[in-house]
Amino acid sequence: MDQYPRLLQDAVEQMATLPGIGRRTALRLVLDLLKRSEDSVDAFGNAFIRMRRDICTCTECGNLSESAICSVCADPGRDASKLCIVEDIRDVIAIEHTRQFKGRYHVLGGLISPMDGVGPQDLNIDGLEKRLNGTVDEIILALNTTMEGDTTTFYIYKRIRDKGVAITTLARGMSVGSELEYTDELTLGRSIQQRTPYENTLAR
Ligand SMILES: [Zn+2]
Repeated sequence: MDQYPRLLQDAVEQMATLPGIGRRTALRLVLDLLKRSEDSVDAFGNAFIRMRRDICTCTECGNLSESAICSVCADPGRDASKLCIVEDIRDVIAIEHTRQFKGRYHVLGGLISPMDGVGPQDLNIDGLEKRLNGTVDEIILALNTTMEGDTTTFYIYKRIRDKGVAITTLARGMSVGSELEYTDELTLGRSIQQRTPYENTLAR
């Protein structure tokens, strides 16, 4: 890369830190930015700077938000008695797109993964227990049907099964090994509507 100006190298190196972006792609993207007007590149850069500075996690559910309480938790039209447990905001977006769920969410911020050194204490599970204070009557476990998802689902089930709330899971229109984010809207919407008691899935 010595033949390139230093500033160009720096930009390429930064771009290549993104997942799935190799150095050739990084160079192509950076050269595209270089062709744009200064205003356009300012707007591009500022979007990331503002996002990093102003996005926080909702103190109630752990969803990403621009204020202390996210738009779902702040909406009085949402049913506070139903909590849908998801891995991260991508799943919130996927479920919101189906328009089949009118409850609230609880965002774990990851899945239990011993291989990656992620344990229950690293996830927003204590926060979930604190929310089970009488207003919640159903917990919908909507995690990916991967090994990490299943491990996390079972762990949460064990933690909350004596809390007096119904524990359900998505109907298995979703195939095993699938991720919510990539499940089509219709299938995901149906899986939410036809959710089943989690204990039934254990018996099989
Ligand atoms: Zn929230």
